Amino acid sequence: MEAAAPDLIRAVIGFRQWRLCGPELRSLRAEDRWSRGVHSARCLSDASHDGPAPHNGCTCGLYAWYAPPPRTASAATADLVAGAVALWGRIELHAHGMRAEHAMVVALALPLSWGAKRRRLLAAASALEVPAVPARRLKAAALAHGGLVPKSMRPPDLTPNKRAAPGEPAPARWYAVADGLKQRR
Ligand SMILES: [Zn+2]
Repeated sequence: MEAAAPDLIRAVIGFRQWRLCGPELRSLRAEDRWSRGVHSARCLSDASHDGPAPHNGCTCGLYAWYAPPPRTASAATADLVAGAVALWGRIELHAHGMRAEHAMVVALALPLSWGAKRRRLLAAASALEVPAVPARRLKAAALAHGGLVPKSMRPPDLTPNKRAAPGEPAPARWYAVADGLKQRR
């Protein structure tokens, strides 16, 4: 059962962590490089499906959270960094985050520490042509490129021991177009 998908005028803002490899951003669980410009999801699963990624019931799509990770979440290691992405195309909403068809990095959060990690983060931001801002300003910097998913549109958290909503967790699905976003190649 799918709810009707309202069309959004602006891109959706989400938040991610990456690994810094030298001055490059890589996905946490894969070797995907996040370079300048637009990223589009590809399904690498064995479960072949019709239609583009993300696909309902599959794990494909570009992942992002609704809110920035805690400021300390990236501090413990030399290579974890946080940032914001603009998302558009097909977007599947889950309780804490979403999977999108297209994404572009729009801002990176400066590490709490000074030194080599900060220098590499600044190099990555420069290569991506995005601002590097203090973590507390990440959300504000990202909102120049889109809007947050309203809480009322996020599926309920059905984790046990929390107040459960009745029925199966059917992810809502909707579409955003990035007309306010300058596409770069
Ligand atoms: Zn898939």
